[in-house]
Amino acid sequence: CGIVGYIGSRDAYPILIKGLKRLEYRGYDSAGVALINNDDLNVYKTKGKVADLESFCEAKNISGHVGIAHTRWATHGEPSSVNAHPHYSESKNLAIIHNGIIENYAEIKNNLIAKGVKFRSDTDTEVLVQLIEYVQVKKNLDTLTAVQVALHQVIGAYAIALLDKREPNQIIAARKQSPLVVGIGENEFFLGSDASPIIEFTDKVVYLEDGSIAVMRLGEELKVVNILNRELNPLVHTIDMN
Ligand code: GLU
Repeated sequence: CGIVGYIGSRDAYPILIKGLKRLEYRGYDSAGVALINNDDLNVYKTKGKVADLESFCEAKNISGHVGIAHTRWATHGEPSSVNAHPHYSESKNLAIIHNGIIENYAEIKNNLIAKGVKFRSDTDTEVLVQLIEYVQVKKNLDTLTAVQVALHQVIGAYAIALLDKREPNQIIAARKQSPLVVGIGENEFFLGSDASPIIEFTDKVVYLEDGSIAVMRLGEELKVVNILNRELNPLVHTIDMN
């Protein structure tokens, strides 16, 4: 029920954990993070509270400057560490977090299983990341285009964030009927379900419009497009911090 993301020069993990705590009021049953560190994409997740995730991560020497984090309120699949987000794609090149419900997940899942894709969890969310990978490999697409093609087939509500370890300086986020906010700093970006994980770091925020896909790349301006790849003009708000 909560999404946080960070990309920049700071250590991502403490920002992500702090952000998840700010979103705890929304309620949840499990929590997890994914970080890119050098060429690795690592996922850490557990059933329970953000404090349980912290104990789980404690001895693991986690680092990275690019990461996404999630608190889950289970709708499809029981609360468990396997069903907690982030979810990897089959190859583990991609990791996704998602708030919302994919209504046609069963149909997509059956199609992918028939094509030989192996699933690890019982969630509707895993269907998204497996579908993105399937179209990416099949049509040889960059990550953004694969997300756009996959989202075309999806019915439901979502706020998502995605990492691809082959494009390590990038977070892609998308929303439909679930909120997402991007924070813009000095060569860094923040992501949140609302502005609460962001406001202590920057006062410049973009409330993403419904149907937007945000591309946060290091060294570039925030890019916002829709699933047809039409470029949208993000409206940057300055939050009054007093
Ligand atoms: N439908 C997804 C799941 O059950 C996401 C739930 C949420 O919004 O946290 O895993």
